[in-house]
Amino acid sequence: MSQTEIQSAVEDLAKKISADHKDETPIFIGVLNGSFMFVADFLKAYEHPCEVSFVKLSSYQGLTSTGIVETLLDPPENIKGRTVIILEDIIDTGRTLKELVHLFSNTNVKEFKIATLFYKSEIYNGEYSIDYVGIEIPNKFIVGYGLDYNELGRNLKEVYQLNQKHMINLVLFGKPGAGKGTQAEFLKEKYNLKHISTGDLFRYNMKNDTELGQLAKSYIDKGDLVPDEVTIKMLQDDVEKNPDASGFIFDGFPRTTAQAEALDAFLATRGMKIDATIALEANDETLIQRLLERGKVSGRTDDQDEDKIRNRFDEYNQKTAPLKNYYEEQGKFHSVNGIGEIDEITHRLGKVIEEL
Ligand code: AMP
Repeated sequence: MSQTEIQSAVEDLAKKISADHKDETPIFIGVLNGSFMFVADFLKAYEHPCEVSFVKLSSYQGLTSTGIVETLLDPPENIKGRTVIILEDIIDTGRTLKELVHLFSNTNVKEFKIATLFYKSEIYNGEYSIDYVGIEIPNKFIVGYGLDYNELGRNLKEVYQLNQKHMINLVLFGKPGAGKGTQAEFLKEKYNLKHISTGDLFRYNMKNDTELGQLAKSYIDKGDLVPDEVTIKMLQDDVEKNPDASGFIFDGFPRTTAQAEALDAFLATRGMKIDATIALEANDETLIQRLLERGKVSGRTDDQDEDKIRNRFDEYNQKTAPLKNYYEEQGKFHSVNGIGEIDEITHRLGKVIEEL
């Protein structure tokens, strides 16, 4: 996206906002770091009295299930009774926005509005209405004009879509109950990845009583693996449904050497590869307790019976565990302690991913 396109969107925003607020002195609040260029250009285009300040949020640590991000710079004081307009560089899932709204919730401002330069409507959760939008963009990772990729690229005058070769494809590896699904939920947000869980796909098909679901049911009910040809085909179809993904987290796949080989071959035909396989390690007794607990709430019958769970572990030991060597030989195997607080484990996984 060229400088001209960006400038014209910034000027349009300034025009719209001044039409609504020229008779007062609003406080514009930029969200650091990404918004600094936007805020500077916006203020130059805003020709009426205004004040400016900044808040700083970070999602680097303490990412929790509520999506709370850390506040590194608080809102200014004395904003009570004032009109506050947030200037965000980009709104995607809405996670940071939630924290922003929360930050200002007890400040007794007169009016609280949100303006964003870039907006990913496809993935925005829609929780709060956004008052001013500069440019709607597809769900692609963008860099430049203040936005970074691993802190680089903020100084670019234009905005670029990250090249697909920066794709990250991960395999989450580990026994049933190791926390693959839980962690995938966090990692997919953090790294903008598509999460594919073969277990979830089978359960979806069983719930909807599809042919595939009926076929898989007899295996899953016993805790056996579903035959490779069925599973591989299903996985490939799901990858193909997401041609624009900036990477995948494979959860529960591959589970056999044949699946691992098929995955490598399939990805290669699309110029893709697995970057890392990360194992979540935990002992059997912990896992059995976790699965039995999960079985009580999820209704998953394969989690409710210790014999079935043990059979799933046997399947794992016989068929899946050998994949460790497969990925070790490719220099892609990493192991992470899967016991501890959820966000602690996410942090451990993040360290591996960020060193790739
Ligand atoms: P999960 O949710 O990953 O624990 O998977 C639940 C069940 O779905 C497993 O016990 C298998 O019966 C079946 N399943 C999931 N993924 C695979 C796979 N990659 N290969 C064969 N069977 C699978």
